[in-house]
Amino acid sequence: MLRKKRELIVAQSTCELCAASGGAVLWSNGNCRVVKVDDPVLPGFWRVIWHAHVGEMTDLPLLARNDLMAVVFALEAAIRECWQPDKINLASLGNVVPHLHWHVIPRWRDDRFFPEPIWGKPQRDVIPSRTAPEDGTLLAAFLRHLEQGARS
Ligand SMILES: [Zn+2]
Repeated sequence: MLRKKRELIVAQSTCELCAASGGAVLWSNGNCRVVKVDDPVLPGFWRVIWHAHVGEMTDLPLLARNDLMAVVFALEAAIRECWQPDKINLASLGNVVPHLHWHVIPRWRDDRFFPEPIWGKPQRDVIPSRTAPEDGTLLAAFLRHLEQGARS
């Protein structure tokens, strides 16, 4: 346990997600932020990043865990509403950075990797051009879903 804590302290001084936001920030609170992943091959790809160094979901207290997932689900609902993808992929890997984070990825049957995960082998070279919804439109939908989730 002591060794684990020391590794986290060392990692914090050189951590890319402590030094920078990790993308354009759409929304943030005291615990986490929603950032845009700027990838032309995967338009509409967003991440929810926990601000502090936490390795696993079960390291978070239950209330914090629920708050994080409420943000993830509100973002998923907003992306679905604004863009109607064929599928949403939610992924939490965290093998490279010591921050819990969730990838929220709209998928289409004709996207570059479908039906593989986006980290899999490309399935096609030519993909249809898609323009993501305006960030303000997505933010409004996200906030509405976050509020609805808090009331349900
Ligand atoms: Zn960090």
